[in-house]
Amino acid sequence: MSVFKYEKDANGIVTVTMDQTGPVNAMNTEYRKAMAETVEKLGAEDGLTGVVFASAKKTFFAGGDLNDLLLAKKGEEAQFMEMLTQIKQPLRRLEELPVPVVAAINGAALGGGFEICLATNYRIAFNHKSVQLGLPEVSLGLLPGGGGVVRMVNLLGLQNALPYLLEGKKVTSEKALKAGMIHETVDSLEELVPRAKAYILEQKDNSAAAVQPWDQKGFKIPGGSANSPKLAQVIGGAPAMLAQKTRGLLPAPEEILNCAVEAARVDFNTAMRIESRGLAYLATTPEAKNLITTFFFQMNKVNGGASRPKGIEPQLTKKVGVLGAGMMGQGIAYVSAMAGIEVILKDISAEAAEKGKSYSEKLLAKRVAKGRMTEEKKSEVLALIKPTAVDADLQGCDLIIEAVFENIELKNKITASTEKYLCEGGIWGSNTSTLPIGQLAEVSSKPENFIGIHFFSPVDKMPLVEIICGDQTSDLALAKAFDYTKQIKKTPIVVNDSMGFFTSRTFGTYFDEGARMVTEGVYPVRADNLGKAIGMPVGPLTVNDEVSLELVRKGMETWKAMGIPDKWGEQNALREVINFLTVENGRGGRHHGGGYYEYADGNKNIWPGIVDKFHKPEFEISDQDIKDRLLFRQVIESLKCLETNVLRSVADGNIGSIMGIGAPLWTGGFLQFVNTYGLEKFQARCAELSEQYGERFDCPQIVADKIASGETFQ
Ligand code: NAD
Repeated sequence: MSVFKYEKDANGIVTVTMDQTGPVNAMNTEYRKAMAETVEKLGAEDGLTGVVFASAKKTFFAGGDLNDLLLAKKGEEAQFMEMLTQIKQPLRRLEELPVPVVAAINGAALGGGFEICLATNYRIAFNHKSVQLGLPEVSLGLLPGGGGVVRMVNLLGLQNALPYLLEGKKVTSEKALKAGMIHETVDSLEELVPRAKAYILEQKDNSAAAVQPWDQKGFKIPGGSANSPKLAQVIGGAPAMLAQKTRGLLPAPEEILNCAVEAARVDFNTAMRIESRGLAYLATTPEAKNLITTFFFQMNKVNGGASRPKGIEPQLTKKVGVLGAGMMGQGIAYVSAMAGIEVILKDISAEAAEKGKSYSEKLLAKRVAKGRMTEEKKSEVLALIKPTAVDADLQGCDLIIEAVFENIELKNKITASTEKYLCEGGIWGSNTSTLPIGQLAEVSSKPENFIGIHFFSPVDKMPLVEIICGDQTSDLALAKAFDYTKQIKKTPIVVNDSMGFFTSRTFGTYFDEGARMVTEGVYPVRADNLGKAIGMPVGPLTVNDEVSLELVRKGMETWKAMGIPDKWGEQNALREVINFLTVENGRGGRHHGGGYYEYADGNKNIWPGIVDKFHKPEFEISDQDIKDRLLFRQVIESLKCLETNVLRSVADGNIGSIMGIGAPLWTGGFLQFVNTYGLEKFQARCAELSEQYGERFDCPQIVADKIASGETFQ
């Protein structure tokens, strides 16, 4: 029996209900067979008046089979094209049937799912927020190769289709209707198939309803073909705009633009072939492998709780105490209250705590102004936050998170004085960015309930939380911290204790290497620009200015005082540059009025003092060496974290590096980068860099071990 249920009613309408093996419908071998057979049967059906495509799953259709795509290899493009033909041909035959074909979209139809919808004549969707429509292939380094590029361009016109194709924009049914991507919505699931059938019956005398717009006589692409003067301008400017966004590091948007322009220039069937060739090429690129591995498979693992201890009941946080209502504390209070958790926000004075709460008020007011929240809901969320200067208000919290200054004595003092207010089994979380959790837990009466919960700034926007287990942290405490981060809708990675954990430690190598280049004589702006050229969000010097040079200086002092040796070699270069900027010249970073750069009147210019002091025009170094040094330092540090068990899984390392550090998307994260760069090649390049620039580039042993066992980092 087919996984596509086939039912013909008394009016001659066939309803095809897709119900593939497993929880979702997907474009795999099973689909290809079922779709080909179904279309064949429909073509031969006597007295057919129309077809409804429906789904037996919660989502309409999930999309392409990413396992297949990961296997695509260079040199095997022909087989891949053949597989695409097997997807495309039945869809083409479907839209060429002499009767109206209607998609009854009950749930999300993304990627391949929406491509099936596009091959129907009429699309009706359930009007509900769970129904997302669109072609997000670009975010996985791919393009919609089941006719999605060509049909979207023909349907909406080149200019209107581009945001959906290049940005992978997903929309609700309501928005899709406005954009012309679907034709109608219904307000309940029960109405969906009956309405689709009713539509078909209404078209009895309208033969055009069975013909796609692009197959109608005299069809013209909305907005004109690629040769029209108006579009020529758009087409001319688009590559430059793209390059600005992707810095030339992501092949998928470029290929999509190319295919979309061709779709507006050549005939339908030729455009389809160009589209297939585009996907066959993209599927073999390292960028696609990296994005699919990390953003699909590993993200599912991380969010699915792979790092959560097994066999522990879900742990619900009802009341959280946040100590310190500064930049971090106020954000933690906001995201917690938004998740419906009662918050005690404590600072040294009632005014400071109130000020922390007003941050939530501002964010909520913005939501109301944008129509994304009602006044009533705003008041509800705000009422959950109680600002206070009184420790005893923390009584009964099942979680206390401290976000006071990064100072071990202060942190120890507040742990000792307030942990008694935790309820039975309650846990203590520190939001320290660097201080070892084991050391902070020494003053705790219950070190097994002590854990690191490291947020990123700004808390309301940054999606990651790094959970740090000290050597005494219990599995139950970890499960509780993990579930809390899920409750506040963040992605948790779990790491073991170390100076700077995984993210701060790895990120630190980026600005350390930037500072080294400055002391070697590299023109500072060049080092910064090349940091951006590898795909980091900002250059190493700019980011150091943003983080605050003063904080980094203080951090280095604290670690020294704690007897913790520098993690990144001697850090003499970083120390020299930072002391020069902060101590000698009072330049503490952007929020202290300037650092490496001057920030007068909204402009950003390199501070001449840093150039005068260090720049050596005669110093020669290639762009490639600068780029590799900035990237390899972070990759090597990540590998060391994996080797020493600071990272508990590769998935946590990749997701953490992208979402917490800003690792370039094309790498798929700092560990995945090594897989597609090639382990041997990576080793060889490390050897070159080590030889020329120092032993911090020595390749970690774990790479040699993987090579010996024939594995990669999975
Ligand atoms: P902040 O200076 O903005 O806020 C600290 C707050 O703690 C202040 O409001 C201060 O009044 C309050 N405080 C001091 N002593 C207190 C006490 N005894 N009881 C209650 N409150 C007290 O600092 P921040 O940037 O929010 O950082 C807080 C912590 O978060 C630090 O450990 C920092 O390393 C860490 N962190 C910061 C960032 C960041 O980007 N800023 C990111 C991750 C982690």
